[in-house]
Amino acid sequence: MPEKERLFLKIDEAVEAIRADFAQYDSQFNLLSVIWPMVFGDETYIMRNAGNPTVWAKISGRTKLISSSEDDLKQRIVDQLKRLPPDPQHLAGICAHVFGAPATAGSGPEPDLLPGIWVDTDMADFVCTQCGRCCRTLNYHDGCSLRDYQRWLDLGRTDILDWVGIIKQDGQVTACRIWVLPGTNDFAETCPWLTMSPDPNRYVCAIHDVRPTICRQYPGSRKHARMTGCGGV
Ligand code: SF4
Ligand code: SF4
Repeated sequence: MPEKERLFLKIDEAVEAIRADFAQYDSQFNLLSVIWPMVFGDETYIMRNAGNPTVWAKISGRTKLISSSEDDLKQRIVDQLKRLPPDPQHLAGICAHVFGAPATAGSGPEPDLLPGIWVDTDMADFVCTQCGRCCRTLNYHDGCSLRDYQRWLDLGRTDILDWVGIIKQDGQVTACRIWVLPGTNDFAETCPWLTMSPDPNRYVCAIHDVRPTICRQYPGSRKHARMTGCGGV
């Protein structure tokens, strides 16, 4: 399978990926209501009144419900998974719900063969419709890696580097941000490399072959696409 189709996460990486998913998207009440009893036991549950942000949670061993917020419940779930990771099979079930993709417990790649979770990202047949929405709306400013920066340096792409804001420490570039109006500290309103295609309603990236890693990796999964309004199919 191509690398993008299947992803292996060690147990701690899987828990971290769950935390990252929770942090990335705002309200996921329906998901939390499924995950909560998987983490805290079948006798537990969460509920809320329509239109009210307060969430009520039944916790094991307590008769009274506690009032909480989604963010607090997410934190409790992550804390519990870190403190007491479930067996890989059970964690795979949780991952399948959180990532919205098939996930199975198994050993990782050789030579380590560590226990963990295989997640099918289901992206092999994803088709980008070139709607350009991700390039216009997603926050990628901090997504430029030092590797991207070095690649553009190696290629002598000063045209790209002109739009990269860099942070230096002791003469070394330690961080970079995209896309910054040349000669300023201000972000460009739109990506300078996004151009209209000759085909109607389609866009192309003028630096497609050397675009930043964050652009290459988007969307990372069907859920990522769905949750961020990607127009791909
Ligand atoms: S660099 Fe290319 S892929 Fe990345 S946001 Fe700009 S146009 Fe889109
Ligand atoms: S939002 Fe999705 S379909 Fe539209 S250009 Fe970006 S990746 Fe392609």
